[in-house]
Amino acid sequence: MLKTSKYTRRLLTVNGIVQGVGFRPFIYNLAKDIGFSGSVSNTSGGVKIKIQGDAAQHAEFDRRLRTEAPPLSTIISVEAMDIPLSDDTEFIIIASHGNSRISTLISPDVAVCEDCRQELFDPHNRRYHYPFINCTNCGPRYTIIENIPYDRPFTSMKHFPLCPECKAEYENPEDRRFHAQPNACQVCGPQIWLTDATGTRLTGDDPLIQTVKLLTQGKILAIKGLGGFHLVVDARNETAIARLRKAKGRDEKPFALMVRDLKTAETFVQLNTQEQQALASIQAPIVLASMKEGGQLAPNIAPGNDRLGIMLPYTPLHHLLLNGALDVLVMTSANFSEEPICIDNDEALERLGEMAEYFLLHNRDIYLRSDDSVVMEMAGTIRPIRRSRGFAPRPIFLKHKGPSVLAVGGELKNTIALSKDDKVFLSQHIGDLENLEAFEFFKMTVEHIQRIFEIEPELIVHDLHPEYLSTKWAKEQGLPLLGVQHHHAHLASCMIENDLNEPVIGIIMDGTGYGLDETIWGGEFLVGDLAGFERKAYFEPMPLPGGEAAIKAPWRIGLSYLRHAFGVNLPDIPALTDQDLAPIVQMIERGINSPLTSSCGRLFDAVAALSGGRQEIRYEAQAAIEFMQAAHNELGSDFTTFELLQHHGYHTISISHIMHALVSRIDSGKSIPALSQWFHHSLIKSFVHIADLIRQETKINKIVLSGGVFQNRLLFEGLVQSLVMADFEVHTHHQVPSNDGGIALGQIAIGRGF
Ligand code: ZN
Ligand code: ZN
Ligand code: FE
Repeated sequence: MLKTSKYTRRLLTVNGIVQGVGFRPFIYNLAKDIGFSGSVSNTSGGVKIKIQGDAAQHAEFDRRLRTEAPPLSTIISVEAMDIPLSDDTEFIIIASHGNSRISTLISPDVAVCEDCRQELFDPHNRRYHYPFINCTNCGPRYTIIENIPYDRPFTSMKHFPLCPECKAEYENPEDRRFHAQPNACQVCGPQIWLTDATGTRLTGDDPLIQTVKLLTQGKILAIKGLGGFHLVVDARNETAIARLRKAKGRDEKPFALMVRDLKTAETFVQLNTQEQQALASIQAPIVLASMKEGGQLAPNIAPGNDRLGIMLPYTPLHHLLLNGALDVLVMTSANFSEEPICIDNDEALERLGEMAEYFLLHNRDIYLRSDDSVVMEMAGTIRPIRRSRGFAPRPIFLKHKGPSVLAVGGELKNTIALSKDDKVFLSQHIGDLENLEAFEFFKMTVEHIQRIFEIEPELIVHDLHPEYLSTKWAKEQGLPLLGVQHHHAHLASCMIENDLNEPVIGIIMDGTGYGLDETIWGGEFLVGDLAGFERKAYFEPMPLPGGEAAIKAPWRIGLSYLRHAFGVNLPDIPALTDQDLAPIVQMIERGINSPLTSSCGRLFDAVAALSGGRQEIRYEAQAAIEFMQAAHNELGSDFTTFELLQHHGYHTISISHIMHALVSRIDSGKSIPALSQWFHHSLIKSFVHIADLIRQETKINKIVLSGGVFQNRLLFEGLVQSLVMADFEVHTHHQVPSNDGGIALGQIAIGRGF
C-alpha cells in the first residue's frame, strides 16, 4: 500500500477474550478483505493490530470488528492511537514469541458449531462421522488445558501429533481451523472404543453402532463426554430408567435428558423464545422447562415434577448417538449422588462398574471436570441454576481493577472464585464439600485456576461457618483471611453482577447460613453494601429438631413450628396423624440438638408438610418444589399479611401468626393447591410490606433478591412484579446462581473492598 496523504496508520489494542478463539485469523481475513496493510499479534497487553488505509476503510474495520467477531470472543475494550505510516504492502500475522508471558483468557468448552456439524454428516468430508471434529469456533478448551500458554503441547491433545492434512489446516490463516489447538481427524486424533463393565473391549461393529444397539436394548451405558462421564439410558424405556435409579441410588430426583434437536425437544416440553435460544446456544446448558402432556417419555424420568431438564447434543459424539434409532436419552452425571462427576477411564470402570453395563470410552483426557450447566427462565430472563460447562471459566468483568482475592465459597453446591485486575474467574460447579472426592476436586480447582490465569491471591475470603471444609482449608493457607457472613455474600453477589455500589435492601431467602449470633439464618431482610450490613427483619427463629436431619423430614419442622404457636395444645393436623410426635416434641422442649433457624427454606418445609405435602424428602427442596407446583402458577385471592414483632430497631416475622392462619385454613378443609396459593401470596404481600417499612426508614429504594429460595418461580416472579408495582428498583441474578453456587462472587466483591 502506497503512502498517500489520505492514509493513516493506527495501532489498536484489543482486550477481552481474544486469544485462542480464532481472533487473529479473523482480524487477518477482515484486514485483507478491507484492503489494509499492517499486522496482528498477541502480546501480554492484548491483541495488537496495526492497520493502514483511508478513512472509509478504518470506519468499516471499526464497525465489522464488533459485529463479525468470532463467537467465542468477547471484546471488552479497544484502544486506538495514530502511529507513523509504514511502507508495508501486505497484512501479516506475527507469530507469538515462545517465552513471552501472554495473559490469556481461556474460553469455556462450547458446543459443536454448525460448520462442523455439517461436515460431520457429509459422507464426502474426510471427517465424516468423526466424533472429535472441532474448529476455531467450537469444541473443548478449559477441560483439556493442563497449563499455559494455551497451546497444544499444554493440552491433552499433546498425545496426538497432527497429520499433514490437519497440520496444513492448523498453519493456514485462511482455514477455519487455523490454530485450533484440539484440531484432529480420524487419522491422527483421539478414538472411541466400547468395553463391558470389566473393561474388556468389544469387537465387531463400529462402537457407535453397537452403543446405539445396546441403548435400544435397555442397557445402562457410561459414556465419556466433554467434562466427564454420563450415565445414559433410552428415555422411553421405563425399565431401563428404573434400573438406573436403583444403580445410582436416586429414587425420585428428575433425570436430565438429551434430545436430538429443538423440534424433538418441543414434543416433550413447552419452550418460549428465550428457552429455545438457551438450548441452542454455544453453552448448550440443561434448560428446565415445562413438561407437555403425552410426550411418550417414561413416567419415572421426573416423578411428581412438572419440569424437565433438557439439553441438545453438544459434542459430535452426542450428535452421532442421537442421529439414528434414538432421539431422546437420559444423560445424568456419572457419580453417586453428590460425588463429583467421573472423568478418567480407569476411574470410571472402577467407580461406575456397579452402575453401568457398558462403557463408551475415548482417549482424549479430561484434565478438569465440568458438569453440565443448568438454567431456567424466570420473569423473562434466563437465569443460571448451576453455572458450569460452557460458562466457566469465562470471567465476570468488574468496573474497576482491584487486588487478587481467592473466595472459597460455601459448603454445598460449592464454587470458588479468583479475581485478578478487573476480572473474576468463577469456577465450574464443584459440589458438596462434605464429600471427600468433591473436596479433593475443590483443592485441585483452586490450584488449577491460580496456575492457568497466573493469580497469586493476597487474601482469602471464606464463609463464617467454622465447620465448613472450605473455611477450615482457608485457615490453613497462611494468607490474610476475611470471614464473610453467608447472606451478606449473597447480597454482595447480586449487587456486583448488577454493578451496584451504594446501600441496598437485600431480601435474602435461603436454606442455611451461619449467622452472626451463631443461629442459622436464611430468611433475612438486610440493608447494606459491600462494606457491611444490618439485619433489619427476619423470620422469628425456630428450633430445628435434629438439626440437619430435620431437613430430610419436613414434618418434624412443621411440628416444631406448630408447637411454638400452639404450645402443649397441639391442633389436629391430618398430615401429622401417622407420625410419632412425642420424641420430637421432647427434643424441642429439652433443647436437644435443636438449633434455632430463621430460614425461609425451612418455613417452606414446615408449611408444605403441615398442608399435606411431602413428609420426608428424597432430594433437596423436594417438599418446597412440589408444594409450589401444587399452586399451578396461580396466587389466588386469599392472603395474610404476616404480623411483625417489634424489637430494638428491627422486626421479626411472627411464626405464631403464620401457623394460626395456616391451621384455620386447614381446619376449614382447604386443599393443598389453595394452601400453597395462600402461602405464596402471603409471603409476597408480607415481603413487600416489610420492604416498604425499611424504605420509609432508610430512604433506600434499590432492592436485591438472592438466596436459594428464589429458584421458586411462583414466589420470585410474583415478588418481582409486586416490588416493581410498589416503585422499587429491583435487581436479580442473571449471571450467577441465586443459590450458594453464586456466593463466591459476593465474597470476592466484599474481599476487594470496593
Ligand atoms: Zn466448529
Ligand atoms: Zn489429522
Ligand atoms: Fe445460601
